Amino acid sequence: MKINLKALVSGVVLTTVLFSCQKENKTQTTVTDNNAVPAEVINQIQSQGFSTEGVVKVNGGYRVENDIFLSDEALKSPAIGPILRVGDEEQYHTTNLVTGLPRVITISISGLSTVFQNGLDIAVSRYNALGMRLTFQRVASGGNIQIVGADLGGGGVLGQSSGFPTSTGNPASPITLNNRAGAFGSNPNVNWVATVIAHEMGHTIGFRHTDYKNRAYSCGGFKSNEGTAGVGAIWIPGTARNGDPNSWMLACTDGSDRPFNANDVIALNYLYH
Ligand SMILES: [Zn+2]
Repeated sequence: MKINLKALVSGVVLTTVLFSCQKENKTQTTVTDNNAVPAEVINQIQSQGFSTEGVVKVNGGYRVENDIFLSDEALKSPAIGPILRVGDEEQYHTTNLVTGLPRVITISISGLSTVFQNGLDIAVSRYNALGMRLTFQRVASGGNIQIVGADLGGGGVLGQSSGFPTSTGNPASPITLNNRAGAFGSNPNVNWVATVIAHEMGHTIGFRHTDYKNRAYSCGGFKSNEGTAGVGAIWIPGTARNGDPNSWMLACTDGSDRPFNANDVIALNYLYH
């Protein structure tokens, strides 16, 4: 997940966050130069339906859409699931899903401060409050999903998931949160942190970005059009077709708390109830 600098300018979040991110955004532009990524890899990323804008080479693979890690191996084995669509701007694009329901996914956190630990507890309780057959349980160490801290650089990147569930139906792990000083500001709101963690958890169980079709929707300055990779879309019954700007799976955060909205709940239940 990444901070939308434009939204921050409109004054949604702490000035300190705004300041540090604006300052470092120029660095990000240099790092994400697609020219450094081989054309073959760009094609693989596109064929899997991800945005080819701002692709970053990282150890063992590439980071796309700011917070999704695709290993070299994953790039070679395309796996595209159905698109669940709920509005003009929103679709819940899945790849593999976690299987073996009902199932308790254990999750631990290490190397991160108290606000992140508390944020995880809130994120877990948000999922568990839905009464799905997939639930989360925080454990002291290890677990199915490990949340770890690492320096993900400047430029507003807050966290990164290790992609999507495996072909054998297990959640992706780890989730890496940016522990660089100031990445989340000096005193982040715990509910915002919970939103970021819930977002990365969403990736681990198969959710792509809600504004997949038009990432400019939440990210502002980004180009739109992430393509559809030739796969169909399933409209989720009962949801409105107009825009809905508050999904927890939007690609960029404006710094606000985004608990599951009505469409999010429908999509989660559609997959895991
Ligand atoms: Zn994301």
